[in-house]
Amino acid sequence: MNDIVIVGGGHAGAQLCAQLATEGLGAQVRLVCAEPQLPYQRPPLSKQFLKSQAEPLQTQRDAAWFAAQSIQTHLGDPVERIDRELCCVTLASGMVLPYGHLVLATGTRTRRLAWLAPALQNVTVLRDAADASNLRDRLHQLLTTGKPLTVLGGGFIGLEVAATARLLGLQVRIIEAGPRLLSRSVSPHLAEFVLAHHRASGIEVHLNASVSSPEISNDHLVGWQRNGQFETIDELLIGIGGMPETGLAEMAGLGIDDGILVDRQMRSSDPKILAIGDCARLNALPGTVKGRPLRLESVQNAVDQAKAAAAFLVGREPPDKTVPVFWSEQGSLRIQM
Ligand code: FAD
Repeated sequence: MNDIVIVGGGHAGAQLCAQLATEGLGAQVRLVCAEPQLPYQRPPLSKQFLKSQAEPLQTQRDAAWFAAQSIQTHLGDPVERIDRELCCVTLASGMVLPYGHLVLATGTRTRRLAWLAPALQNVTVLRDAADASNLRDRLHQLLTTGKPLTVLGGGFIGLEVAATARLLGLQVRIIEAGPRLLSRSVSPHLAEFVLAHHRASGIEVHLNASVSSPEISNDHLVGWQRNGQFETIDELLIGIGGMPETGLAEMAGLGIDDGILVDRQMRSSDPKILAIGDCARLNALPGTVKGRPLRLESVQNAVDQAKAAAAFLVGREPPDKTVPVFWSEQGSLRIQM
């Protein structure tokens, strides 16, 4: 078995390590992480992690486990380049790792607003542990100043953070461009229920909201025009979704269409390179919605695709297709689909 390099220490990368350890194959496995810490649970970042400064990151497996499995970890050292001819990757540190198989598990990156400067002191996004620590500090500062949190985007992450902030006792305002919440993921009926729940908890929700013309002073967003009226912003969380992190795959010339296109065995257009998790899009599979390629952003999908990749790497048939499962916790509300 050839060396396996996994790029990205999120849910998919960590699960693939666990699965390969269970399979007991003799290959050298390397996990390359852009972030400085070992893989951790991402869902708590918009929920319990924000509640208390004492809440730790929930690590998936500790350093001793990786050492016991002889899995080499490279932390805080992202892959910068793939050389498909020489079958190797180059890390930011300059280290070169050869691979027999490469697995891209690079997740998503947050969508930003084209019209808003990216580095404003009172504007945050939430994707990883560093974002969550920053957001938590900001929320706990708002508790002392009594100023409100504005959340742009009525999707899952925006609603989860809004509900957590409200439980902490903050004033919270949600600004959503569409006519309803969760428009990409739930039925109008469920969206109505969620809207009523958040309004009843004291969260201000503005639908059909169009924002523009930001006013910026000293690296702070002071306010913007919302539906033609000036609105002051004290603290803003942008939660307008993510985009698949396909930069490396694009540079390497792999097939991409809103995600790295993969087959049932998670192989990209280069059979030595697999892609799993949020960054991967399953190419026209029988059983997918109208036969269209499908990309999901959920823990369960990351875990299932890691299992399918492991099966391919050890020469087994892919596991049976599972029914996608997703959950969201928004304060006292738990939604399971
Ligand atoms: P990720 O977990 O995002 O990991 C990708 C990793 O790749 C990152 O660590 C990134 O730094 C790394 N990376 C990127 N580029 C490189 C590179 N060049 N070199 C090395 N490393 C790289 N899902 C649910 O089902 N339920 C929930 O309640 C839920 N809540 C969530 C709350 C939050 C705040 C977030 C952000 C997500 C939530 N999700 C939830 C979604 C779920 O966490 C993702 O679907 C899951 O983490 C996807 O796993 P992944 O491994 O594909 O990507």
